[in-house]
Amino acid sequence: MNNCNNKKINDKKAILDYNHPLDYALLMEYLEIFTERYYFMDFQYIGKSIMGRKIPMIRLGYGSDRSLLYVGAHHGMELITSIILLRFINEFCEIYKGGRTVYGLDLAYLYNTRSIYIVPMLNPDGVDYQINGLSPDNPIRERLIAMNGGSSDFSSWQANGRGVDLNHNYNYGFMEYKAIEQATGIINGAPTRYSGECPESEPEVSALCNIIRTCDIKMILTLHSQGEEIYYTSGGKVAPRSESIVKLLAKMSGYTPSSPEGMASFGGLTDWYIHEFNQPSFTIECGKGKNPLPLEDYFPIYMRLREVLFTSPIIM
Ligand SMILES: [Zn+2]
Repeated sequence: MNNCNNKKINDKKAILDYNHPLDYALLMEYLEIFTERYYFMDFQYIGKSIMGRKIPMIRLGYGSDRSLLYVGAHHGMELITSIILLRFINEFCEIYKGGRTVYGLDLAYLYNTRSIYIVPMLNPDGVDYQINGLSPDNPIRERLIAMNGGSSDFSSWQANGRGVDLNHNYNYGFMEYKAIEQATGIINGAPTRYSGECPESEPEVSALCNIIRTCDIKMILTLHSQGEEIYYTSGGKVAPRSESIVKLLAKMSGYTPSSPEGMASFGGLTDWYIHEFNQPSFTIECGKGKNPLPLEDYFPIYMRLREVLFTSPIIM
């Protein structure tokens, strides 16, 4: 399985080939090709993961009318969401470069008036554990194996590099969630659902929150897998315009608008953003099946979400 990751991407094609397990090293290889090829694409790091991997962010457009944020791979088993966002960046840049339109949109107009910030892989450590397992020189290897029930099989790992579930580490409903978490026996780092010591304790989450606070983000799409649903509420709260936007997103994708229940309704990015900013945020559960979804699912999922990704800056 690891051998695939050493394969250099064929960079001759306009739209690159995405049928590879996307670990951090490969993500950086794609982004290197993009930065060489698309001089107009802005690239920066928002911070570092807990194990020291720099977290990349791409910005498409320099407009200040409206800014929005797309986020992939909060969870280790959800690398397919990173692949979908890379493919989107690739296609957006090709169409923009060629001066073409898509869904009736002139991307030059979009570029001048909007900004799409994209963090394709928020949790590079978790994705790496899930694909490659723990490296022998991981400084907390023994602790991680203990968190993983004594097993060195990390193929079901969702959390970050030290066992915190990033999508429970945001500052909404943290204490309520703690009580539920402890009642279900999660008292320490774990492969999934442990929320951390305090909100934004994890550098990945704190880096993303800083971007949201400083870049005047007006709407968020956060990609997870799986279920073909779009969550758009939190604790009964619906941000203005969310209802009408989710109907459009559902129509374009065929996904079902939903409201989260139980453990899923605390501490997530969408929860925090809706309550803190009272602006629309959507958790899109990509595809259907068992995580990690097979790589060949990336293309049909991308085609279902393509219009959503291209037109959200306009319908927001
Ligand atoms: Zn997820």
